[in-house]
Amino acid sequence: MSTVSLHENERKSSSQAENLLEIQNLKTYYPVKGGFFKRTIGNVKAVDNLSFEIRRGETLGLVGESGCGKSTAGRTILRLLKPTDGKILFDGKDITKISGKSLRDIRKDMQMVFQDPYASLNPMQMVGDIIAEPIYNFSKKANAELKKEVMDLLDKVGLSQDAYYQYAHEFSGGQRQRIGIARSLALRPKLIIADEPVSALDVSVQSQVLNLLKDLQQEFELTFLFIAHDLSVVKHMSDRIGVMYLGNMVEMADKNLLYVKPLHPYTQALISAIPSPDPRLKKERMILRGDVPSPINPPAGCPFHPRCPMAREECTKTKPLLKEVKPSHRVACHLY
Ligand code: SF4
Repeated sequence: MSTVSLHENERKSSSQAENLLEIQNLKTYYPVKGGFFKRTIGNVKAVDNLSFEIRRGETLGLVGESGCGKSTAGRTILRLLKPTDGKILFDGKDITKISGKSLRDIRKDMQMVFQDPYASLNPMQMVGDIIAEPIYNFSKKANAELKKEVMDLLDKVGLSQDAYYQYAHEFSGGQRQRIGIARSLALRPKLIIADEPVSALDVSVQSQVLNLLKDLQQEFELTFLFIAHDLSVVKHMSDRIGVMYLGNMVEMADKNLLYVKPLHPYTQALISAIPSPDPRLKKERMILRGDVPSPINPPAGCPFHPRCPMAREECTKTKPLLKEVKPSHRVACHLY
């Protein structure tokens, strides 16, 4: 083997050791059927050529308006949806096409916290059973041991042990989300994908649940993909942030770089819309024209060009690639 390929292999294996998850050119398309024979006449390009990585122990925030593909990306990574193309490497393994027992085994290590704690838990099931179910399915532990583990998890998420015998419908939204978090931790996963975990909760309990997730991340050595549309929430939680628009990653940077010096015009517009904590400080808001185009028929060139105040001719023809323009700062825009 040549010295160059040896170095290349060393570089790849050290990045795999550092990264828990690597996504390469991931696409998730939904076919659109039409006509008398219900043939495929097009595709909804929900996720279109997404590439990023998540380092072990970090929280990567994924933001964007509703419909930008961030939840679809999360579900495709967990293999709840079938990827159309691209690669998902988890913990050094290619999991893009695995199925059956291999997929079942990998699911122990990747769990999801859902947006709606009212819809994601069976209201007629006892909380103890909800949390015990995944442990039982994977390990068939004896009842006493199982119960002890569930009691321990209730304690970790700040619920009393009495909750074990109660039903999910007896709890408030914040408490239900704690139950959902306990269930997601039951198999001691490495990665948690939290999809808008506080957006259905009262503002008064949002920060409690966010702080709980941060504490559990330390205690359980978790890596998070944190999906949300609220930039203040994502800033509170994340180490690095990726901004999605129409199925594409348009900017990715360390949290502070992204909030202080956003480069992509779309990120600049999102950040300009965050209210200032000090009302005396006037912020100039960048208003975007028009709506997000349909992902069935995305614009040619840069997907953001119909709304971009800085668009020029090149933007209507050539799609910009996500590239590193400064250390730890990637952007997909012809301006850079
Ligand atoms: Fe705007 Fe052009 Fe940059 Fe797209 S590539 S964000 S249209 S300036």
